[in-house]
Amino acid sequence: RAKDEGGGLHFDYEPALHAHAEERRKLEFSLRHALERGEFALAYQPVVDAITEAPLSFEALLRWHSADHGPVSPAKFIPLAEDTRLIVPIGEWVLRTACFQAMNWPAPIKVAVNVSGEQLLDPSFAEVVVSALAASGLPPHRLEIEVTESIFVRDGTAAQQTLERIMSLGCGVALDDFGTGYSSLGYLRKLRFSTIKVDRSFVQGAARDNPESLAIVRAVVAMADSLEMSTTAEGVETEEELAVIRRLGCKKIQGYYFGRPMTAHDATALFDTIAWRRQQA
Ligand code: C2E
Ligand code: MG
Ligand code: MG
Ligand code: MG
Repeated sequence: RAKDEGGGLHFDYEPALHAHAEERRKLEFSLRHALERGEFALAYQPVVDAITEAPLSFEALLRWHSADHGPVSPAKFIPLAEDTRLIVPIGEWVLRTACFQAMNWPAPIKVAVNVSGEQLLDPSFAEVVVSALAASGLPPHRLEIEVTESIFVRDGTAAQQTLERIMSLGCGVALDDFGTGYSSLGYLRKLRFSTIKVDRSFVQGAARDNPESLAIVRAVVAMADSLEMSTTAEGVETEEELAVIRRLGCKKIQGYYFGRPMTAHDATALFDTIAWRRQQA
């Protein structure tokens, strides 16, 4: 083998690299046609009030069932869609679909939509939001846009301006995966986010009594409280995680413990249950 001869590592390595590039090329080809082929669907995951456990909103999560590749994980196709800018038309479909779907739910229930930097910095983004709201009839305060800190790295000023416009429409803007990106806290001074979403890694750490995770969640909740922003704990899976997150004062909870991402049909059916109607009475 080349490796044993010394210095020839690339002989082993190149075919693997090539296979990877080839797979990516095939995936990209399929992704280009996924929208017109109707291969996308949205899954909806509930976010509940930390104290009452009543559902407050659903986060729309994109699913791709490719005719060529079967189900493809978002971890794989979202970065590809961002690199190719296909996320712009795909993201527009997500926004419109989510807004229409939310019209099937009782009035206080919101829908949260993830938006990539590529999409947010596209000059038409704000108008796409306006048009999705107008077409569906969804009141702006029932839509929450989720962005990550990474959007402030490339063109912070443009990102800020677009988010201000979205906020001025009455939509909420949540800061997703908080604590995992390049956190300069500067933009927290400039933008009034509706919610800070504490990344699952801190939730896990806190439940394992990791002192740093506990301190960070406590500090984020205190900071959000004084900035009049809400907090959501992401990825709560167990009773133990729920208990510690409640104790730390997070306002909202999302995770497998309360509900996995579900079909639109199942999300809507949730509100027909006796438990929901009793809660409202
Ligand atoms: P995210 O926005 O942070 O979404 C939360 C992810 O955590 C989802 O993964 C969700 O299924 C998963 N999750 C929820 N609860 C739990 C839990 O209790 N335990 C564990 N282990 N995981 C949990 P998903 O659906 O695979 O999405 C991954 C990421 O892909 C999202 O992370 C988001 O960044 C991105 N994404 C999904 N849909 C869209 C979209 O429509 N547009 C854009 N731009 N990005 C999207
Ligand atoms: Mg999200
Ligand atoms: Mg997240
Ligand atoms: Mg996350």
